[in-house]
Amino acid sequence: MSAAVRSTCPYCGVGCGLLVTVENGAAQVRGDPEHPANHGALCSKGSALGETVGLDGRLLEPLVNGEAVGWDAALDAVARAFRSAIDQHGPDSVAFYISGQLLTEDYYVANKLMKGFIGSGNIDTNSRLCMSSAVAAHQRAFGEDLVPTSYEDLELADLVVLVGSNTAWCHPVLYQRILKAKAARPGMRVVVIDPRRTPTCDTADLHLPLRAGTDVLLFNGLLSYLARTGATDEAFVRAHTNGAARALLVADNTAGEVSAVARGCGLDVESLQTFYDWFAGTERVVTLFSQGVNQSSAGTDKANSIINAHLLSARIGKPGMGPFSITGQPNAMGGREVGGLANMLAAHLEFENADHRRLLQQFWQSPRMATRPGLKAVDLFEAMYEGKIKAVWIMSTNPVVSLPNADRARAALRRCECVVVSDVVAHTDTTALAHVLLPATAWGEKDGTVTNSDRHISRQRRFLPVPGETRPDWWSLCQVARRLGFAEGFNFATPAEIFDEHARLSALENNGTRAFDIGGLAGLGESGYARLAPIQWPVPTPESGGTPRLFMDGRFYHADGKARFVPTRPRPPTFALDEEFPLVLNTGRIRDQWHTMTRTGRAPRLNSHFVEPFVDMHAGDALSFGAREGTLVRVVTRWGRIVARLRTSGEVARGSLFLPIHWSGATSSEARVGAIVNPSVDPVSGEPEFKSTPARVEPFVVNWYGFVLTRGTAAVRDLSWWVRAELGSHRRYEIAGRSVPRRWSDWARALLGTDAAADWIEYEDVGAGTYRAACIRDERIESCVFVGPRPELPSRTWVGSLFEQPRLSPAERAGVLANRPPAASMDAGETVCACFRVGSRAIEAAIAQGCHDSSAIGQRLKAGTNCGSCVPELRRMVRDILNALRTDGRGQLT
Ligand code: SF4
Repeated sequence: MSAAVRSTCPYCGVGCGLLVTVENGAAQVRGDPEHPANHGALCSKGSALGETVGLDGRLLEPLVNGEAVGWDAALDAVARAFRSAIDQHGPDSVAFYISGQLLTEDYYVANKLMKGFIGSGNIDTNSRLCMSSAVAAHQRAFGEDLVPTSYEDLELADLVVLVGSNTAWCHPVLYQRILKAKAARPGMRVVVIDPRRTPTCDTADLHLPLRAGTDVLLFNGLLSYLARTGATDEAFVRAHTNGAARALLVADNTAGEVSAVARGCGLDVESLQTFYDWFAGTERVVTLFSQGVNQSSAGTDKANSIINAHLLSARIGKPGMGPFSITGQPNAMGGREVGGLANMLAAHLEFENADHRRLLQQFWQSPRMATRPGLKAVDLFEAMYEGKIKAVWIMSTNPVVSLPNADRARAALRRCECVVVSDVVAHTDTTALAHVLLPATAWGEKDGTVTNSDRHISRQRRFLPVPGETRPDWWSLCQVARRLGFAEGFNFATPAEIFDEHARLSALENNGTRAFDIGGLAGLGESGYARLAPIQWPVPTPESGGTPRLFMDGRFYHADGKARFVPTRPRPPTFALDEEFPLVLNTGRIRDQWHTMTRTGRAPRLNSHFVEPFVDMHAGDALSFGAREGTLVRVVTRWGRIVARLRTSGEVARGSLFLPIHWSGATSSEARVGAIVNPSVDPVSGEPEFKSTPARVEPFVVNWYGFVLTRGTAAVRDLSWWVRAELGSHRRYEIAGRSVPRRWSDWARALLGTDAAADWIEYEDVGAGTYRAACIRDERIESCVFVGPRPELPSRTWVGSLFEQPRLSPAERAGVLANRPPAASMDAGETVCACFRVGSRAIEAAIAQGCHDSSAIGQRLKAGTNCGSCVPELRRMVRDILNALRTDGRGQLT
């Protein structure tokens, strides 16, 4: 076994530290007890990282128009296309669309090439879709894009307000830190402000299920209430801020009465009053906000309305308090540091400032500096659609799935003369449209740094050999830069050299004028860079040791050193509901998946929590739309349509829908959520309105439902609907169809493939419309298919477990088509705890046997005892089962 390598998780913005060991090519991943973000804890996604590093499906060689050509020819092709477009149409005819998945060093080189050498601002990142509203709000309020807090502040706070954040699922380790702090100090309160009743609400002291899009109204109400009740710090406001009076006037005029605010937000007055009183009466308050705030056409104002409340009460710059934007991606903040957004320059320098542009040009010895911001993501693809962008280079992201109005983005790429995609995965919805494909090194194969949500810069370190012809993104960027004639600026040999330039730039003529200063990390050399331990910027000197908290001296980064209140007027989402589209569609993440599943989709245990896309809807709405739980429905908007399984979990309010974002054209027939999301963006930040699209639901009528489990692939392309999940020993397809085959037997053989050496066992009940078949070879199950007229089909889990066996016993073989295990206990049920692979049936049995809380279940089955992400689900199961027992009069409640 190799010595443990310290690295960081490549998923969410918590930025957990890892210890990775490799044995016989297999990576074992543990949480790093010394990393300040997680102190050794990991969530289900981080714990399963070792399962995602195989080479199946990897892009391992450069391709031009589908032909393997070697690096030189591929790089020549990229440089030729970019040079030709620039020469004929100018620098703004080319673009980079990059990603919060990139390492800071990749990001730095991409930004330097586009803004400093090609001379265009047209480089934007998928972080635009995630937290650009928070960035814009920070700049407006603080004078720079600054997150003032540390994770530790969440533990020190007496009131933690979680706004638009399903923290339990999307930032699970941070959520567990909050829960632990709350358990240690029961007086600490947690308030969740979210239209959905998510698992995060499970342990909250108060949940405010506000009407979608009314956050500004709610926080304006808070601002006005703080002023009315004297819960302000006038000395701080006077000495360290500007603009309070105007912001307050707007707040008073728009939200001066608690009862009116409650009505506008769709809340009961008592709950809202309780929140306002708690905020007003608690010194140590952290307001953590995420995509529910940012992904809105009013996202910047929403974030500023939160910051306003913290400024008025001076709850900022001290332990246990502050507004806290948490990012979705592992290196969203690193991208911001190097100017990865189209409207930012590197090192927090500003486009609008001619001195900053000059400084950067001199530092880079740049031949052609961009003089104005480039196009933000949605506008950039629109310009491509209109033919203004002739060549684009996409890195580490899948915009055909993730952009709003994603069919338009796909059409834009089809119209673009040269599409270059650097990726680790060969087949994605976006790589399918590439003229040039460049194979990138993946997590575990590359070296660099990332910055997490609380400004900790951490190393990602290589622990696997570099496979095939893959190369780091910074390397391919440098190679193209040289071919474009910019060799001098791009002579980097290692990521340490790039980091060094980045650190030196941050300190250039800084003198405390910009908070982003990591000059203390310049000159580390290869060995210092190799040893670099997590550190929180600013790091202005080698001795500084990092900065846990900003603004402690009351100094902000506008020219006058003061913070600014921003008056925020409530405004509704861009597109109103109407008779045709009467529901608000909200989108987001689920517990065990990441983005478009190109990595988490490879980990069997992560695929077994939700194996298929669902749309969550209120049961009352489902009834009125003629849709039944478990059936397939169409979700239709003005921009497109998708198909998903209807779920009525009780988490969404009437009039709302929730859809997870993860499925793509590669994993389903019709579930790219981006295709139905409206393209409206925030006018300041350019962040799309992913949380509010008018929609309707229609039954998706099929004549049969079914599922396939197979070691191979099933020929599902012509079916009315299908979804695929990788489960390790086998693939699972959920399928449905309209046309009924004349002979199911022939259909099954065409679907699963004929195998002359295999036995087929089949069962058909013509009257009931059910058909089942299994293909068995040498007493080993190869595939099976179950079909019936209704969505209620047998459990997939026991039959699925048979794929892990080299041979079926006679009893198992006899039980396959009846889905009857030799012992009932052999069917674990659908996975609830991904860390220990504990299924629903085992948990139900434990509850029936007296485990009536999550800790008792944990003691019996270990479920919920690692990352804790499934604890809310365990609690719900206990509640539901005990309620059912109580209703039956059979329960023994403890
Ligand atoms: S919380 Fe989970 S996904 Fe996020 S960084 Fe930590 S281990 Fe990775």
